[in-house]
Amino acid sequence: MNLILLEPGDFLDSGLAGEPGSPVITTLRGRRFQHITEVHRADVGDTLKVGLLDGQMGEGEVVEHREGQITLRVSLHRAPPPPLPLTLILALPRPKMLKRTIQHATALGVKQLYLINAYRVEKSYWQSPWLSEEKLREQCVLGLEQAVDTAMPKIELRKRFKPFVEDELPDIAAGSRKLVAHPVTDTPCPVDIPDQTTLAVGPEGGFIPYEVEKLQEAGFESVHLGPRILRVETALPVLLARLFPGR
Ligand code: SAH
Repeated sequence: MNLILLEPGDFLDSGLAGEPGSPVITTLRGRRFQHITEVHRADVGDTLKVGLLDGQMGEGEVVEHREGQITLRVSLHRAPPPPLPLTLILALPRPKMLKRTIQHATALGVKQLYLINAYRVEKSYWQSPWLSEEKLREQCVLGLEQAVDTAMPKIELRKRFKPFVEDELPDIAAGSRKLVAHPVTDTPCPVDIPDQTTLAVGPEGGFIPYEVEKLQEAGFESVHLGPRILRVETALPVLLARLFPGR
């Protein structure tokens, strides 16, 4: 937790939370209290990095620390890092991988994410409790806290591949560079591209040829990352580091 992420409800006077530069007071309990106490070992007078969810970032000075709760005087005056110019289309990974991938994607600056079905996505994955709005949000919060960012990603679920790719994807990807990460292709993934991009990443078993064809019909170009097949959670950071180094 490199950033203490605050929500409007955390503020004693929530009306002040939106005013840039104005110090406000917030009292934290539970997970954030524990982290500040046990990991940061912060005490009265110490300053921590804080940010308001979907808002500005700044500092929080510990003004009171007692049993089970900590109070910060918060000043918010900095914008969060800019989002990646990217919409990510990700075939739904298995639940364990999903959690980690959502955290990584969030930490890397992904703000638009579609979790889609594909032939090699097991049906049972769609029943996972980790797909609930609340659980996805928890993983995003962990990613934001890790990366020091406040802008919550938007995650959409699409359980049918064909209608998504045929009816919805053309609008979603309109005007963007369209890439599908696919190990069996001749074109290497481009490096440092300036364009708004839509990137599709397959399931653990890969996209089947029909799916790659459908994506190609929608204007997607297949690109590879070299001769090694990577896990989705590894392929994603490698793709984003190549496409948007330093961003
Ligand atoms: N079993 C599949 C690979 C699936 S890897 C096969 O052998 O073809 C899961 C996903 O990660 C792929 O669909 C692709 O989107 C991405 N990926 C992994 N390694 C990659 C590589 N070397 N090049 C491009 N994409 C890769």
